[in-house]
Amino acid sequence: MNTFSIAIHGGAGTLVKGMMTPEKEKEYRTALSYALDGGYKILESGGTATDAVEEAVKRLEDSHLFNAGKGSVFTAAETHEMDASIMDGETLNAGAVSLISGIKNPVSLARDVMDKSEHVFLAGEGAMEFAKNNEHALENADYFYDEFRHQQWVEIKDTDSFQLDHAKKKDSKFGTVGAVACDKNGNIAAATSTGGMTNKKFGRVGDSPMIGAGNYANNETCAVSCTGSGEYFIRGVVAYDVACLIEHKEMSLADAAVEVISSRVLKLGGDGGLIAVNAKGEITMPFNTEGMYRACKSSTGVQEVSIYK
Ligand code: ASP
Repeated sequence: MNTFSIAIHGGAGTLVKGMMTPEKEKEYRTALSYALDGGYKILESGGTATDAVEEAVKRLEDSHLFNAGKGSVFTAAETHEMDASIMDGETLNAGAVSLISGIKNPVSLARDVMDKSEHVFLAGEGAMEFAKNNEHALENADYFYDEFRHQQWVEIKDTDSFQLDHAKKKDSKFGTVGAVACDKNGNIAAATSTGGMTNKKFGRVGDSPMIGAGNYANNETCAVSCTGSGEYFIRGVVAYDVACLIEHKEMSLADAAVEVISSRVLKLGGDGGLIAVNAKGEITMPFNTEGMYRACKSSTGVQEVSIYK
């Protein structure tokens, strides 16, 4: 039997250490553990990596603490526009959605795009129509509302800045969520979901739903889910770049991920992190920010729930 493993993240923009209270930290850790366990149990009972990453991300979307699903950040129009993607490393099938509103679990909509449509990426109204046809749960604006996220928006609304420009000292800039997993059969998968950037406008889409940028999986190399300044992660084709270094330079999973996060993305001017696994069940979770909400668990006994370096 193959080593099986899962890693999750809740974004690379943590509260700065001074603002994190013991109660808040406990809340984050509990939410991360709950999502991790949901995915791990699926792997333990012989389920697929794709099912495991979807379940873990759904649980993170259902928590108001992270910028995905419930608790998503506000756009310039005081609405929520969410993006998500999923990729199966065995078949290289993928599904993605962007600019969707009111969908409880965007990752499951991305999954349906992968499984039930002939397309890879659906956006906006069309994605919403597809969601209705496939009976996806809808929620009203109250469900997605989070006081902390609203406050972040109030501070920069009516300006041209979006959360990327926001003061570093204050807050959780990047709260995107993601999961990567390797199952008992050595198949891997990745899923990513986000509300994007606070005060975004013009239909802005980040890296999270873009296959190869914020999310990628291929059994031959690795499964990757990213979080960070999406504009830079798109230009760096970050998730695929990690896979390329493994494939063409024969780098290890950990070395390839560090090279991209600690050197290539930084050189472009971007900040953030990623989680990755390979078909041997190895895990790596590098970031170049002060912290990244993250957790991992493997059948070899590895288990970690961490926030800061
Ligand atoms: N990468 C996401 C985006 O640009 C933001 C995040 O990681 O929180 O939409």
